[in-house]
Amino acid sequence: MKCLFIFLLFIFVTPISAEWYQHSFDVMGTRAKVEFESDSKLLADKLIEDVVAEMNRIDRLMSPYKPNSELSSINGLAFREDVIVSQEMFKLLEKSLYFSKLTNGAFDITFSSIGYLYDYRERKRPTEQQKEQLKESINFLSIKLEQYKRSVRFDSQNSKIDLGGIAKGHAVDRCIEILKSQGIKNAFVNAGGDSRVIGRKKERLWYIGIRHPRDDSKLIVNLPLENVSISTSGDYERFFIKDNIRYHHIIDPSTGDSARELQSVTILAENSVDADALSTSVFVLGSDAGMKLVNSLEGVSAIIIDKNGKMSISDDLREPN
Ligand code: AMP
Ligand code: MG
Repeated sequence: MKCLFIFLLFIFVTPISAEWYQHSFDVMGTRAKVEFESDSKLLADKLIEDVVAEMNRIDRLMSPYKPNSELSSINGLAFREDVIVSQEMFKLLEKSLYFSKLTNGAFDITFSSIGYLYDYRERKRPTEQQKEQLKESINFLSIKLEQYKRSVRFDSQNSKIDLGGIAKGHAVDRCIEILKSQGIKNAFVNAGGDSRVIGRKKERLWYIGIRHPRDDSKLIVNLPLENVSISTSGDYERFFIKDNIRYHHIIDPSTGDSARELQSVTILAENSVDADALSTSVFVLGSDAGMKLVNSLEGVSAIIIDKNGKMSISDDLREPN
């Protein structure tokens, strides 16, 4: 009897051992990763499935390359009629316009009116004539949202939108919500340049490196992080070089050409939608205006590398003298 008692006690006091799980996969034209601690393998397997499904769902909704995505149907119809969209799409469009106003149009999802003519793999870019013709169509003010109908309409015939500067951040936030809702306390979710961490990694802080913009074997800094989002926008992600000029995927809406003041921008913020939109925004704004904006925002930090390789950091990251 005593023996049974000791055995039962042993079962009850033995802590359930938590394990770490990770999974990497391709989605939204990039590599994604999820990593977390769970005390149930069953739950962990289910959560990995859910995270993969969620990122694929958002890709199906927001991809400009999928003819049946909600985004493609907006681009096809919104000049002629009010297009009723999902709650999720409406909210992300509102967020995008919020960042357009905040950045004086540096962040502008209608960049795609010219942006869609670039094909970085095929080394294709719009002609000067095409850029001139379509310049007017890049203007976030031509996107009209109607809250009561949940609809979107374009004022300009040739306007096209693309959520590439904000959708991955949204997807990372959604996946963190899924993990949190199932009691996960320590996790990392990444999609391309956008990552978010909650809690810690094996009792220690998370470490995320920022790569050297011109040498992918080098890190310029390895940041210790806890409960934060981090997004990097770089001119090395999608680009080609022609006649010594780098044509890359972050477009200055005022010219329809790639923004060339910076090589990389890393933003730290509370959530990934903000970090993602701001990293693209600051890349277009450049060092001075970009850092001024970051320093004015509560809970947002930046590490900027300019076109000459010079690094600058936001005021809050400076050590007190
Ligand atoms: P990121 O790597 O987060 O900076 O996102 C780059 C992506 O944002 C590009 O591939 C485009 O889809 C999109 N993008 C490019 N320029 C802009 C812009 N000025 N405003 C909003 N989105 C942009
Ligand atoms: Mg971004």
